[in-house]
Amino acid sequence: MRKKVIAGNWKMYKTQAEASEFLQKFLHSLEETPDDREIVLCVPFTDLGILSKSLHGSRVQLGAQNVHWEEQGAYTGEISGPMLTEIGVRYVIIGHSERRQYFNETDETVNLRLKAAQLYGLTPILCVGESKQQRDALETESLIISQLAKGLVDVDQNNLIIAYEPIWAIGTGDTCESIEANRVIGLIRSQLTNANVPIQYGGSVKANNIDEIMAQPEIDGALVGGASLEPDSFARIVNYQ
Ligand code: PEP
Repeated sequence: MRKKVIAGNWKMYKTQAEASEFLQKFLHSLEETPDDREIVLCVPFTDLGILSKSLHGSRVQLGAQNVHWEEQGAYTGEISGPMLTEIGVRYVIIGHSERRQYFNETDETVNLRLKAAQLYGLTPILCVGESKQQRDALETESLIISQLAKGLVDVDQNNLIIAYEPIWAIGTGDTCESIEANRVIGLIRSQLTNANVPIQYGGSVKANNIDEIMAQPEIDGALVGGASLEPDSFARIVNYQ
């Protein structure tokens, strides 16, 4: 059985006060949540400390949104694996399309970050996915195969989550058809040596489409941006049927 993982990606949203307010409401909604799923919140670095304390003893795991490949050093603005694990972070998003697009993240730096995350005891969530232009040019498959081949060199597939995130579906309300997401995720699985790697779908996942997405046989979870910011909508998502 592959693990089901629902992860929220708060991006650059929520001060510590806002994060605490979210949790007060959200944690109450988990009393009936089935045990078959892992719930993760990937939050800004400044929220990690306070959430680590507030989530202690709850079933929600903590995630970061990036990690550097060195243990320490003169890398202004970066954060290392040991800094994250020391405060209880378990997961880290790597290679999100916003990092690739705005911060010059490449498959090579993604690979370095993935290996460092694993070395320091984090579970990486590797994001892959095509732009609208690449989809229209029928390059989805070749792009994803290339992102995986370059990103996963020497990466341990026993401690890995992959998120298929078509860029055109992120933050647009334009969700990928669940059957199509299922097809691409099947293609991703065919490129892996470990068939048990959980593979999420991400891109405008909402309370009103999560059940259909999770009903697809290849889809093992969701990476949720906008809809993870509001406690009621994220609660409905983690409580998918
Ligand atoms: C994301 O940030 O990874 C994402 C999928 O965002 P949204 O759910 O808002 O499309």
